[in-house]
Amino acid sequence: MKPAPFAYAKARSLEHAFELLEQGNGEARVLAGGQSLIASLNLRLSNPELLVDINGVPDLDGIALEGVCVAFGALVRQSAAERSPIVAEHAPLIASALSHVAHPAIRNRGTIGGSIALADPAAELPACLVALGGEIEIAGSKGRRRVLAEEFFKGLYETDLEPGELIVAIRVPAATTASRYGFAELARRKGDYALAGLCAAARASRDGLADVRLVFFGVGLKPVRARKAEARIEGGPLDEARVTNAIAALAEDLDPPEDVQASKAARRHLAGVLLQRVVKQLSESAP
Ligand SMILES: Cc1cc2nc3c(=O)[nH]c(=O)nc-3n(C[C@H](O)[C@H](O)[C@H](O)COP(=O)(O)OP(=O)(O)OC[C@H]3O[C@@H](n4cnc5c(N)ncnc54)[C@H](O)[C@@H]3O)c2cc1C
Repeated sequence: MKPAPFAYAKARSLEHAFELLEQGNGEARVLAGGQSLIASLNLRLSNPELLVDINGVPDLDGIALEGVCVAFGALVRQSAAERSPIVAEHAPLIASALSHVAHPAIRNRGTIGGSIALADPAAELPACLVALGGEIEIAGSKGRRRVLAEEFFKGLYETDLEPGELIVAIRVPAATTASRYGFAELARRKGDYALAGLCAAARASRDGLADVRLVFFGVGLKPVRARKAEARIEGGPLDEARVTNAIAALAEDLDPPEDVQASKAARRHLAGVLLQRVVKQLSESAP
């Protein structure tokens, strides 16, 4: 299929992008890597009147260590982040997740900001951001604001972005010597969206793990924190009884959807398998 006709404009600056989006009267869409948007146009799942291409907007494509944070410009390609020594050293959870995002050809064009803005419930990066306590910097004609990832994702492909606003940057706390991370997902084939996945972050303390954040993807309408399981992992030796207890708590934390890919029961089972794998990583990993 071919897309319905649309107009195209290339923004020269952020201000120019805001102007163009305003001219679109709610019928304009931002074009970043195009890896999801163009497919949805071709399938006629969406038919915007205007595409505002932000690929020429300066200063949106850097990765930098900013004090205690790692900052990603919205236009950073997923493959650039995957190869970045800054990401490998200071944001290792994101480095682990990126190799599971689609295929290399898609990651060469797909952007960090595009993945966050799309808010696919089975995507890796939104869940990583929630697990890390990251934040999203949003800009619009009225100014800039920052939103915690946990508050940014509202529902199925639904975010806190208002019409005319753009994601300009994403920030996550940089790893410290006490940081512990875990990542695992199960997909039918490498590169497919996950049937279920889990991103985890924690802090090693004298009494075991503290500040545990277990964030599942592919099992709800948005990234899902498993708070009951988190509480059972924290503050003690990660022995078999503790892990079994945490897996049992997932029954209360998760209410996975049923679809052609997997039943609710299968997803629940997969979530338990993932938790077991990730707890092992949390107890072994060091930044
Ligand atoms: C076959 C296939 C498999 C895939 N598998 C996976 C996978 O396993 N995991 C995964 O996470 N992703 C997967 N993807 C999606 C891929 O990662 C996309 O690149 C990504 O989701 C969107 O990034 P993009 O830069 O291409 O955004 P685009 O396609 O350009 O845009 C996507 C949406 O975000 C909006 N948008 C983009 N940038 C901004 C911004 N800066 N501010 C505000 N709105 C913005 C657009 O308007 C649009 O609505 C897959 C895609 C394909 C085609």
